[in-house]
This record gives sequence, C-alpha cells and structure tokens, in this order.
Amino acid sequence: MTTTTDLVSYEDALASYDPVMGLEVHVELGTKTKMFCGCSTELGADPNSQTCPTCLGLPGALPVVNATGVESAIKIGLALNCEIAEWCRFARKNYFYPDMPKNFQTSQYDEPIAFNGYLDVQLEDGETFRVEIERAHMEEDTGKSTHVGGATGRIHGASHSLLDYNRAGIPLIEIVTKPIVGAGERAPEVAKAYVRELREVIRALGVSEARMEMGQMRCDVNLSLMPKGSEKFGTRSETKNVNSLRSVERSARFEIMRHAAVLSSGGTIIQETRHFHEDTGSTTSGRVKEEAEDYRYFPEPDLVPVAPSREWVEEIRAALPEMPLARRTRLLAEWGISATDMQAILNAGALDPIVATIEAGADAASARKWWMGELARSANESGKALDELAITPEQVARLTELVSSGDLNDKLARQVIEGVLAGEGTPDEVVDKRGLKVVSDDSALGTAVDEAIAGNPGIADKIRGGKVAAAGALVGAVMKATRGQADAARVKELILEKLGVSEG
Ligand code: ADP
Ligand code: MG
Ligand code: ZN
Repeated sequence: MTTTTDLVSYEDALASYDPVMGLEVHVELGTKTKMFCGCSTELGADPNSQTCPTCLGLPGALPVVNATGVESAIKIGLALNCEIAEWCRFARKNYFYPDMPKNFQTSQYDEPIAFNGYLDVQLEDGETFRVEIERAHMEEDTGKSTHVGGATGRIHGASHSLLDYNRAGIPLIEIVTKPIVGAGERAPEVAKAYVRELREVIRALGVSEARMEMGQMRCDVNLSLMPKGSEKFGTRSETKNVNSLRSVERSARFEIMRHAAVLSSGGTIIQETRHFHEDTGSTTSGRVKEEAEDYRYFPEPDLVPVAPSREWVEEIRAALPEMPLARRTRLLAEWGISATDMQAILNAGALDPIVATIEAGADAASARKWWMGELARSANESGKALDELAITPEQVARLTELVSSGDLNDKLARQVIEGVLAGEGTPDEVVDKRGLKVVSDDSALGTAVDEAIAGNPGIADKIRGGKVAAAGALVGAVMKATRGQADAARVKELILEKLGVSEG
C-alpha cells in the first residue's frame, strides 16, 4: 500500500502554526536481574532460557522489587531535578498482547517514583532550552516477537510467529516530558537535543548504556500544532519507538509539515500512533487512539509500596556524578574553546577519548587535535566509532609526548598512528620498527642542507640578499630528501647559518 501525504513546506508551516511536543522515552536499565524476579538480563542467551514462573506470569508466582532498579530510578529522577515520591505503588496495566505473558504490564500509573523536574538541553549553537519533566516511572519490558515467513518481517504475510520472553520483565524507566511549547521552528532540534542530553545523563549515571540502536533507549514523539497566537493545544499524533537521534529530529519535522497540510486545508488531525520510516523520512498511520485507552489500571496487590527513606534519597543525591551539561560547560571554559568546537567534539564522540588522553598526560590542545584530526579521519574511513579504534588514550598521550619532545613531527606522528591502528604495536614500537624518529643532529642534517643549497643556487642567492622567507623552499627540499624525518626548525637554522644570514 502506498499512501501519499500532502505536505506544507517547513517554513510555511511555521509561519502559521506553533508546534507543541511531548517526548516519552523508555530506558532499559542495565541491572543484572529483571525488575520483579531473579532472571538474568544478559543479552544473547537462547530464547526463553531466562524466564521463570514470575516473569511468565504463572499462577501463584510472587514478584519482588529489584532494589537496584529502584535506586536507578531515583538516580534518574534526581538527575532530572525531580521530586522523589515518599511513597508510591506499582500498578497493573491490563491488556492482551502475545509478547506479554502476564496479560498485564507491571507499571506505575498515578503514583510515579519521580515527578516535576526539568532537563536543560543544549542546541547546536550553544544556547540552552529547558524541557520540563512530568514524571519518570518504573515498569518492565515486554518479550520479543519475530514474525517468520513474510517478506517484510511484519506480521502481515507471516506464516507464524516466534516468541522470546527473555526480555519480558527487564526493568524500564519511562520518562515523560510536559508539553514542550515555545520552541517554534527549533522544535525538532530541541527534541533531538533532549534525547541526546537524556542519553548522556543516563550514561553518566551508569544505569544503562542507553544505546538506541540496540533498543536500550527508544522515544515516542508526540506532536501537535496550534494556530499562531492560540494557546489551545491541537490534537496530537504519537510517533512510536523512534530509535535514533536523527530520526527523532526528522520525524518531528515531518509531522509538523503533515499536520500543517491537514489543518490548512480545513481537515482535522486524528489522534493516532504513527510509524517513522527511515528510508523515506515519513510517517504512516498506526493505531487510532481517539478515546483514551482503558487499561483498567489498579494497584498491584502482590507488591509492597515503594517508600524510599529521605536519608537514602539524600545519600543517592550526594553521590551523583557531575552532570554532562555542567561537565561540558566546565571543559569548554578550561580548554578555551567555542560552543561550536564543543558541539563538533560531541558529534564526533570524541569527548571521553579526549578527556582520557588528557588524564593520561597530554595537554588539552594536542589531545583535541589528534582525536578530531587524524583519528577522526581514520574512524570515518573505516566506518568505526572513535572508541572502537585500535588505539588507546594512553597511546595517544604518548604520541603527543613524542611530538612535544621533538622526537616526532606531525607528519611522522601520523605515520605512527597509522602503524598503531594497523596493529604494529605501541607508538614506541612503531617508531623503532619503522625508523621514524626526527633527525636533528647536525652531522646527519648537514649534508642534506649542503645539497639543497647547491641544488638551488637562485634561492640561496635571494636568501643571502636578505629574503629570509625564501628559506622555506630549501627547508622543503631537505624535508623531501629526508622523507619528512628532518627537524624542520633546526634545518632552517642551519641553512641561515651556512648562508651567513640572521633571522632577526
Ligand atoms: P499517552 O500514554 O496517552 O501517550 P502520556 O501522558 O504518557 O500519554 O504522554 C503524552 C505526551 O504527550 C506527554 O509528553 C505530554 O506532555 C504530551 N502531550 C500531551 N498533549 C499534547 C498535545 N496536544 N500536543 C503535543 N504533545 C502533547
Ligand atoms: Mg504515549
Ligand atoms: Zn523471571
């Protein structure tokens, strides 16, 4: 089935309407065991090998709350500047779906563990935007269905489906924003910046790796438009399970254009879920949701309420790490770089490698230069992330040491990097094996300098006549003759000395 969707250009849409957004993010916690039983959460096990009567919902099984799960939820709540409930309960959210063996999801409803917070996020130009948080609550993941036999992997056309309950019961935290208003044309950028900042926070807390491509973090993007000047929210669409930062931004952008087309031609938006397609950058209709679904929520009778003591909450607060935005702001000032430079570092995934390289002894400017230059290029060419390259921050630090001591120049250092990445050993080993040290002793350089002078008499005369700048050409000739291994500064001194000219 192909559906064409009329769109209004992004600029025209924003000229007439203000977008309102709501972001719901699910984060899979990295606890060792599931939220309400002792089953392992490790990935890659045989299907249904990590299940028990509790996560399969067999009669008589009794759930027990995972304390680490609660602690992680509190950490997230505090990091998002939320209030932490003194007392809250789990609730059953009742619905039938084959990937949910209990026929209800244990979740939280009107008593979330954390509520009323905010997260400041940073836009590309360095400006910050405050996103208010409605709540963060605890729940559990569902199992995984695989539809077999069809062309698309979807249920339509499949001959049968396979169910794996290993994921059923893995702890999830759902974080829901309040309606985000006032972002205007930057709404899609705010959405992306929010999900990215949230991911950084989650990682800094160490509660999850939050890898979107692995489904450890997924985002539902709610979006509506209201005519400019109006304060009454329009009907929203809800694009489900968007699984990359780029898709978060693109799906919001697409929905703005689609809503504007419907509204400006006199149509009405129906409340529905939608699916985003990365190949086309568009969304298609999912499930209509005109009436609030009735999940018949009721308090979970098999679990005691969660009542974190204030002492415990304050202990957790005191042990929180520095938050990513604060850390970036501090590093930006320490390094004396611009917001744009910092953004480039973040986009390249270079912040942690750079910090680690500085901790291993490099100066900040050199650490940045190598990770954002030669190493970023290598990573790009091999389609790897920086932290997947076969070089450690310690090795990069050693490389910068060899450069600042004059043992290597930049050109040689690049060859050393190439050697390390190719598995030839540590920087020192590569220097030895490839014979890459800078040659600075005069006896070794003297002959090359003499030959360069003899081979370029015209240039030598100019220099003798006082045109010191012309020495560059002779330095170049010496560098070429020594395959880049000569100490360029010393070569220049020797040339001027031999021609009887002084620099000043
Ligand atoms: P549901 O589970 O039905 O999606 P939630 O309250 O969990 O409802 O999430 C709805 C999300 O959408 C919240 O982030 C909320 O702030 C946001 N939202 C609510 N109304 C609107 C609207 N009219 N336009 C855009 N976003 C909205
Ligand atoms: Mg929702
Ligand atoms: Zn279990």
